[in-house]
Amino acid sequence: MSNPAAATYGRNAPDLAALWMPFTPNRATKAAPTRLVSADGAFYIGEDGRKKFDGVSGLWCSGAGHNNPRIREAVTRQLKELDFAPSFLFGHPAAFDLATRLAKAAPGDLEHVFFTNSGSEAVDTALKIALAYHQARGEGQRTLLVGRERAFHGVGFGGVSVGGMVANRRAFQNLLPRTAHLRHTYQPDLNRFQIGEHEHGIDLADDLQRLCDLHGGETVAAVIVEPMAGSTGILPPPVGYLKRLREICDRHGILLIFDEVITAFGRLGEAFAAARFGVLPDMICFAKGVSNGVVPLGGVMIRKGVHDAFMTGPDWAIELFHGYTYSGHPLAMAAGMATQDCYEVDGLYARARALEPVFAKHIMALRDHPDVTDIRTVGLAGAIDLKPDPAAPTTRARAAFLRAFHEQDLVIRYTGDTLVFAPPLISTEEQIADLFGKIGRLLHGAAG
Ligand code: PLP
Repeated sequence: MSNPAAATYGRNAPDLAALWMPFTPNRATKAAPTRLVSADGAFYIGEDGRKKFDGVSGLWCSGAGHNNPRIREAVTRQLKELDFAPSFLFGHPAAFDLATRLAKAAPGDLEHVFFTNSGSEAVDTALKIALAYHQARGEGQRTLLVGRERAFHGVGFGGVSVGGMVANRRAFQNLLPRTAHLRHTYQPDLNRFQIGEHEHGIDLADDLQRLCDLHGGETVAAVIVEPMAGSTGILPPPVGYLKRLREICDRHGILLIFDEVITAFGRLGEAFAAARFGVLPDMICFAKGVSNGVVPLGGVMIRKGVHDAFMTGPDWAIELFHGYTYSGHPLAMAAGMATQDCYEVDGLYARARALEPVFAKHIMALRDHPDVTDIRTVGLAGAIDLKPDPAAPTTRARAAFLRAFHEQDLVIRYTGDTLVFAPPLISTEEQIADLFGKIGRLLHGAAG
């Protein structure tokens, strides 16, 4: 097959045809590649040899910065000592140690950890634990899993079933049979250009009560939400919304799952968004920032009562028929442990809290641009909605993304016609000012 990039790159063009890139317009990207070849601190180096500020922490992963010596050295050490150990039946010390450490960092009695390799696996694990938990307690009729419109819970069949992004669902109709969705909390007419939690929308949590009224609360197993929805353009929760979900769950014996794959580990200035919003869920899904993205790692934090419900029956019996070959992989555990050191020793959560108002000030400074229709921000995350071209949705944001990369040396993201920002927790105030200064110039049509 011919390689479209060859035309651009001439005789020495790399062959880009074989790799099917995930969540990427493959043909356009291979025709004009945006490859990254190395990274250090808050910067990538592109294939063009230019240093580019990492405005999205890779993919919400690299809060402690790239090529972090503490993490690099820990992984290298681990590699020399134990490259792999089976997590079924055996395990190894680092997995127990990291679980203990994460349990200490988590709020309330979220005392147990099940390791996965990704956020998608974390979500499917949490949903399976919810179903099995109710069955273990003699409430096997609780099979309804409730998600929310505009949610992203990864790409497994479970996560897509409770997810609410239409493009992620449309082509894959064999989803889980028993799901329902809350309405999303995006209400631009009420909450436009607000910083932090949205003023309006607590009543949307009552959708859960309506679903209980419709299906019978005693048939609902779990509700899963992102405390702040990231993938559909940073939707902070309305004030009081998460608390009200918790109350309705308690009323009906429903498990509350927070998908914190992007909010955990500092993005909102705490180890977990649950702590920031003062709401204790029954499970938390995490990934990304747990290992600074250095080695794939995800997992689920589980409250004591949920865990303990499985620890009955004969002690020689397997309690949960679930797990991955690479659950608790030694390299991931080493990366996870060193990443926790970075967060704690370097005070990165406090740093994120200190940067939050700086970030909000600079992103909100773009609100008066005629093509900007809304800006949302909470923690070190923010989104700018651009007025779409009605004839070609997403092309406005994609054009801005490409100009940001090639002309402004910025690595950012877009979803639909929304630009998304989530710089590393180690960023400086100057870097954040520069990021949005450049975006402002780009929106005004200027280069450089
Ligand atoms: N859940 C949320 C909230 C996410 O944002 C993501 C990824 O961005 C996932 C789950 C999936 O994680 P992964 O890509 O590691 O499977």
